[in-house]
Amino acid sequence: MTPQRPPRYAMQKRVLVTGGAGFIGSHLCARLLEQGHSVLCVDNFFTGTRANIAGLIGNPNFELMRHDITFPLYVEVDEIYNLACPASPVHYQFDPVQTTKTSVIGAVNMLGLAKRLRVPILQASTSEVYGDPSVHPQFEEYWGNVNPIGPRSCYDEGKRCAETLFFDYHRQHKLAIKVIRIFNTYGPHMHPNDGRVVSNFIVQALRGENITIYGDGTQTRSFCYVDDLVAGMMAMMATPDSVTGPINLGNPGEFTMLELAQQVLELTGSAGKLEFRPLPTDDPRQRQPDIAKAKALLDWEARVPLRQGLEKTIAYFAEVLAAAEG
Ligand code: NAD
Ligand code: UDP
Ligand code: UDP
Repeated sequence: MTPQRPPRYAMQKRVLVTGGAGFIGSHLCARLLEQGHSVLCVDNFFTGTRANIAGLIGNPNFELMRHDITFPLYVEVDEIYNLACPASPVHYQFDPVQTTKTSVIGAVNMLGLAKRLRVPILQASTSEVYGDPSVHPQFEEYWGNVNPIGPRSCYDEGKRCAETLFFDYHRQHKLAIKVIRIFNTYGPHMHPNDGRVVSNFIVQALRGENITIYGDGTQTRSFCYVDDLVAGMMAMMATPDSVTGPINLGNPGEFTMLELAQQVLELTGSAGKLEFRPLPTDDPRQRQPDIAKAKALLDWEARVPLRQGLEKTIAYFAEVLAAAEG
């Protein structure tokens, strides 16, 4: 007879979150625990921090393992969320070879794990697979416009290759895969020095420094609050095996960097001025998700307006800076 779990744990899953000590991963771990699941957080702490998961340590359902996913991992779990990978240009360009290895070899290892266990695996892919897009907004059938040899390629092409691996494991080994393409996400636990626009602007404004605008500031991005994203990721994991993605997850509200700077200055009451700097190589001109698929298949859309999300993120950074400086 098959051993039965005690009834209280009947619905409890043991969930692996790679990159669980990072910005998005730490929110996902917290949400899974709130829902009664048990979480195995695997992270090599390249960009993730213990502070992000400090509130989870001590929870009997939370387990932390320091491990680099470019090496094989033998554990027993019911579901896998693969988030491990530095996400900001500053961090992923620091050691570009390791970035590609994390996306590609890391994906092979996590897919090998999912194949041995026969469990569903979700890949945190990215809007960067669309590169500097020539269609707007970006929908999932668009193949992208990516430079294969530029400074951003380690991230973009690594993530594209990971998607290829996911779909080949699906076709060849019948794995249940869930590929989501995440658009710019922000919120508490972003790294204050990772160079991303939301954290840069907020930290600069809180310190009364000038706001650094790259290029003329007319390039656009669409910003999703992290709680909305995590809800979308979990909705995706809950879909039947026939739903593989790729599915865009993001907030379609599109803003120029000048508009974002204006909102941050207003909400922080900062007297900082705008300071224009050169635009980085291959910086996409515009980005906005088409989320028709996510709406139809997941009944999901982002709910938190930019202003409200910025207020929460500003409150978080104000605390972090006060603790660091006080
Ligand atoms: P993050 O840098 O805060 O988190 C990444 C985590 O992965 C960190 O904790 C880091 O230490 C860990 N990590 C890196 N390499 C590893 C390795 N080889 N082995 C084990 N752990 C490793 O970034 P994030 O913003 O939380 O992004 C999470 C995922 O979502 C990434 O895969 C990223 O590509 C994807 N994504 C994020 C965004 C965004 O706007 N934040 C957008 C698109 C896609
Ligand atoms: N792997 C892992 N954990 C497992 C099973 C596999 O880390 O539980 C890794 C292992 O390193 C392997 C890779 O995943 O090389 C791919 O596994 P797969 O079974 O697809 O390929 P193979 O073992 O035949 O190379
Ligand atoms: N950016 C900016 N000032 C900064 C940091 C970034 O104007 O201090 C710009 C950057 O050039 C890009 C946009 O903001 O056009 C978003 O950058 P981020 O690195 O956050 O995300 P990604 O380019 O990966 O979408």
